[in-house]
Amino acid sequence: MLAAMPPTPLPTPEPGEARIRDRGDACPGALRLHPADDGRLARLRLPAGRLTAHQAEVLARAAETLGDGRISITSRGNAELRGLAEDCGAELASLLAGAGLLPSPTHERVRNIVASPCAGLDGLGYADVQLWARALDTALCAEPRAASLSGRFLFVLDDGRGDVAGLGGDVSLIAGQDGSALLRLGSRHFRLAAADAVRAALTAALAFLDAAEAAGNGAWRPHELPEAHTPDWAGALTRAGITAEPVPAPPLPVSPPPAPGPLGDGALHVLAPLGRLTADGLRALADGAGELRLTPWRGAVVVTDLARLPALEPYGLVTRPGLPSVGVSACTGRPGCAKSLADVRTDAGLVRHGGLPVHYSGCERRCGHPRGTWVDVLATGDDSYLVDGVPTPRTALPEAVTKARTTR
Ligand code: SF4
Repeated sequence: MLAAMPPTPLPTPEPGEARIRDRGDACPGALRLHPADDGRLARLRLPAGRLTAHQAEVLARAAETLGDGRISITSRGNAELRGLAEDCGAELASLLAGAGLLPSPTHERVRNIVASPCAGLDGLGYADVQLWARALDTALCAEPRAASLSGRFLFVLDDGRGDVAGLGGDVSLIAGQDGSALLRLGSRHFRLAAADAVRAALTAALAFLDAAEAAGNGAWRPHELPEAHTPDWAGALTRAGITAEPVPAPPLPVSPPPAPGPLGDGALHVLAPLGRLTADGLRALADGAGELRLTPWRGAVVVTDLARLPALEPYGLVTRPGLPSVGVSACTGRPGCAKSLADVRTDAGLVRHGGLPVHYSGCERRCGHPRGTWVDVLATGDDSYLVDGVPTPRTALPEAVTKARTTR
């Protein structure tokens, strides 16, 4: 029987060493619901964003019967349900587990794996890292110690095109064109055989846990470790029997997300406005699809017939490039988040022209903001914002945001 997960236990600090964390991470999960102003929130980890058509249907049903009828896509390509009743945990867990979406209750919050969503579909990239993601997820869930990772620890698997390499992974793998992989661990880089990539990623995560335990400062991620406790990455890889050559930091590949529309000859890429799908929108995506991959840019890559594209537009999905809503994101804002100073999602809908990515935030935490270059729209009150630091009344937002997106 599935049960609510206890907080992650914390190690004991060494004498004289300050803790940087005085509690286990409180990241929501599918079994640990988070109280929000609009009800409970569940975050379901989907390694590489992957859902079968059946799983998508189950998720749509859960949103409709237990939540507010919508599914949010996070900046890691996970799914969130909001507006859940306080007592729905057992029913939600049973629905998700029945669809194979909770393979290990003890590991449900640590399955944070982002992988190039188009891998294997469009002829680009050097390896099908979607397969690496599945293998890594299986290995993670089979390793009891991995359950101690924080809910924020992130694995990033890039197929070499550079679409996700810059997403700030704690353990990153970047496929090379010669059957190799680059393992990136903060400022340390190792070249190894692609066949060892998944094992190396898990080995690195366990080496971090060893170092965090020795440091005793409650670190959730490697960069939070004191310098004296930097993990012995090379030693851990050698002890695991993995041949890994230390290499200088190479330039990272970088590429933008694909434009919405057809992807190769058997897949589609669509964006969900402000990262939210309705239950019926998710069902429309899943209809006749082989699989769906929710993306870190808050859309979905769908393995399906290209002729499905026009049928998706009535659900408000962005199916072609150039629309003003492409690149627009917002935090939860009011009424879902008590910290928000404004209804930023409604105000983000006022956008009239495209351009640079733009993110609307209800407070200075700027939850879910994009990486790279973006326009910062920060609420400072009911009717006032800062647009890239410039005070702007709500009524002048459309013009100010257009100017910032197109002239910066
Ligand atoms: S940025 Fe602030 S207002 Fe928005 S969701 Fe995060 S905490 Fe809430």
